[in-house]
Amino acid sequence: MKIKGKIFIDATGDADISYFSGFEYIKGRFFDGKMQAIGCVFKIAGIDENKITEKVVEEAQEKLKELGEKGALNIYNQWLGGKGRTIRNGERSFNVMRFKEDGTDIFDLTKGEIFLRDQIYKYWKFLKENIPGFENSYISSLPENIGIRETRQIKGLYTLTDLDIINGEKTEDSIARGTYWIYIHCVLGRIKDNVHLCPKECSTKEYCIALDKNVSVNRVNVKEIQKILEKQEGLY
Ligand SMILES: Cc1cc2nc3c(=O)[nH]c(=O)nc-3n(C[C@H](O)[C@H](O)[C@H](O)COP(=O)(O)OP(=O)(O)OC[C@H]3O[C@@H](n4cnc5c(N)ncnc54)[C@H](O)[C@@H]3O)c2cc1C
Repeated sequence: MKIKGKIFIDATGDADISYFSGFEYIKGRFFDGKMQAIGCVFKIAGIDENKITEKVVEEAQEKLKELGEKGALNIYNQWLGGKGRTIRNGERSFNVMRFKEDGTDIFDLTKGEIFLRDQIYKYWKFLKENIPGFENSYISSLPENIGIRETRQIKGLYTLTDLDIINGEKTEDSIARGTYWIYIHCVLGRIKDNVHLCPKECSTKEYCIALDKNVSVNRVNVKEIQKILEKQEGLY
């Protein structure tokens, strides 16, 4: 199909229009192409909120952490409901899942759909069987698709920087302003040692270039970073 137009606005999330038109792009991290982990938000309802005391939450977090460390669940948040409760009584929204692959690859996307839905089922089953308040709970909603955080980025006339966001820069052709803070979900898909965001909330004990004291990803040039990564081969 051929679509003609004077102007195209690429809002595909994957820079699909630009990519298929042959425009330059980068994918993921500029020096190794690794992309932020894929996620999947879902809801559980039928929860008896009266039973969920602080002690229950603490114990649940400890148990969930253990399951994550053992590799039984691939979760980066051990919370009882990522974003907390929804407006419906007895329903919570969970943003805890992690899957590290390429959101533009159909095979990875298929793997992700299967893997994350299986993880959600296991997560809910664990809560239902082990955590007070979840005895009569059920999964009340799943998204149509898993959520992709990062893929291609167009190499346009101007590249937005972290400082533009932090400073709330406004340009003549601005159309909107985002207000959410900058956060990067582990591009290595790690969850052990409570790995969450990069690098502020990271406590990994395994090697990671973002935490390497000799490297400042913002300052060192790409070739130097690639050399360091080659030396660390096998750790990623
Ligand atoms: C699990 C998860 C949690 C998140 N939490 C937060 C949060 O708390 N706060 C926050 O600010 N951000 C959050 N984000 C990030 C936020 O969701 C994205 O930054 C935002 O949705 C990107 O918007 P977008 O319009 O650029 O792309 P998208 O929302 O991806 O929209 C692209 C649209 O284009 C459509 N499309 C793609 N290709 C084609 C095609 N070829 N033809 C026709 N249609 C097409 C897609 O179906 C989709 O509807 C989260 C992301 C994930 C995955």
